Amino acid sequence: MAKPSVAVPEVGVPAAQASCTCPGTLLAYPPPRGAGVAAAVRRKCLQVELGAGAGLLGGAGAWGVESMRASSPTHARAAAALAAGGGVDVDVDEERAASWMARHPSALGRFERIVAAAEGKRIVMFLDYDGTLSPIVDDPDAAFMSETAFVGLAGEKQMRMAVRSVAKHFPTAIVSGRCRDKVFEFVKLAELYYAGSHGMDIKGPAAAKASSSSRHAAKAKGVVFQPASEFLPMIEEVHERLVQTTRCIPGAKVENNRFCVSVHFRRVDEKMWGELSESVRGVLRGYPKLRLTHGRMVLEVRPSIKWDKGKALEFLLESLGFADCSSVLPVYIGDDRTDEDAFKVLRRRGQDQGVGILVSKHPKETSASYSLQGPAEVMEFLLRLVEWKRLSRARLRLQ
Ligand SMILES: [Mg+2]
Repeated sequence: MAKPSVAVPEVGVPAAQASCTCPGTLLAYPPPRGAGVAAAVRRKCLQVELGAGAGLLGGAGAWGVESMRASSPTHARAAAALAAGGGVDVDVDEERAASWMARHPSALGRFERIVAAAEGKRIVMFLDYDGTLSPIVDDPDAAFMSETAFVGLAGEKQMRMAVRSVAKHFPTAIVSGRCRDKVFEFVKLAELYYAGSHGMDIKGPAAAKASSSSRHAAKAKGVVFQPASEFLPMIEEVHERLVQTTRCIPGAKVENNRFCVSVHFRRVDEKMWGELSESVRGVLRGYPKLRLTHGRMVLEVRPSIKWDKGKALEFLLESLGFADCSSVLPVYIGDDRTDEDAFKVLRRRGQDQGVGILVSKHPKETSASYSLQGPAEVMEFLLRLVEWKRLSRARLRLQ
């Protein structure tokens, strides 16, 4: 018997704010154990992590310039560090890189291993956006899908075509730190799930597309899940204050991602990073229910709730009817520190029950099992998956 759908109310969101340019209606949430579960999930994730704000803002050492440098590696910085080391042995460095690759091999090189794990299972695809489907660029508003074999518009179309092809065969979600509307404007594919603001703003595909492409997608059509909706007025206020406070720092860009605020420092002179960090932390001292995290060239302010990209992954699997199910293989591809929460969820599921793929040209600490070097390799991986699925279906028809 079909489970009843429960619409999760957007508590505290005025109608005007709740409107969205994305297609589709509110993402219905089919609770696994009765109608009270959606509310229970919401209560659980709204538990403020007591003391988290003070811990994160208390030490300049922990969240100062050094931390910003560590989370924003560049080729120039890696080369400078190598040169500063003087006696660093290039062979040792290469050895470390080889050792890292042995622990996180290329997902292209181990493609056969990955699809062997997918035999008899339903693949669900999760894709980060910045740095995964698009290159990291100086202007976050110009992070179009590309860095493929073709540049510019041709590259963007090529990546969009690859994502569209994947979504025809597997339920596919974009999981991004960006505002959901903005990431949809970049991707422009109505048939996908979108989890914006680090998974705090989830919406399913347009109902008609969902029902035609996948029975699982049809099952989860029509819901929005927004566990942090009551933080919206506070986020608006903090966004305004951060815009004012950082105005005097050349290159700083404050982006309102609806359920979180990003302070980009890609264009800020490194000499000013300390001042920027102090300004942001100064504003946040007045908001103990918000916390500061950081990613590549960005400081991020978000609600202190127990919700992240890993929780969004679990929520979407559950919504698709795959809760506690061993016949599904979630595949998550991302490049950022915030994607680690999703990689950890996949690790916990156990061997051959999930595939985490880190996009990185440099060795770094990760819970992902595999790696890819950049968006061009991500596209190649997606197209190989599509081809594998096409051939599998052809083989089945011949049997
Ligand atoms: Mg990213």
